[in-house]
Amino acid sequence: MSEKIVVPGDYVGPGEVFEEGPATHLVENDVYASAVGEADESSGTFKTPTKRPELSKGDIVYGTVLMVMESLAIITIFPEQGERESPFAPTEGKVFIREMAEGYVKSARDAILVGDIVRAKVKGVEGDKAELTLAGSELGVIKAYCSICREPLEKTDKGLVCSNGHREPREIANDYRQYGKINL
Ligand SMILES: [Zn+2]
Repeated sequence: MSEKIVVPGDYVGPGEVFEEGPATHLVENDVYASAVGEADESSGTFKTPTKRPELSKGDIVYGTVLMVMESLAIITIFPEQGERESPFAPTEGKVFIREMAEGYVKSARDAILVGDIVRAKVKGVEGDKAELTLAGSELGVIKAYCSICREPLEKTDKGLVCSNGHREPREIANDYRQYGKINL
């Protein structure tokens, strides 16, 4: 068995065997990984995952909002149950503003913020990235934290409010903070 899984910073092998590539870097005469991948010493190749075959169109996924721009957000998708040991998880997904709600969303930050936990549906998979949608009553934010004090936001008849009285908009799923099956 000459293949091994390495994570960023791991020693891949000697420079005589492995060449420096887009996912590796050479330090003196040693090659180190800069991405998760599989190193094969017998052939001197370092392969990085390009696809997560277990994700396909229509799948429901859970994730954390990593980044929000004006018209796009990046979600870190949680590994599925039983895959927590997977070296290739997590996978990233992107959500365009037109997919953040069924109605019109003026700014992405009115729908989701960094750190929110969302339930999303996979629209398509390309390489190691998935395109996701939050449009649908069962989709959207299922848990959010106040951006001012980081307390969880509770659903009230006046919208989402934290224990310090801050009110914030989100595009929430119909079971916001009432999901029973997943432990968050
Ligand atoms: Zn607050």
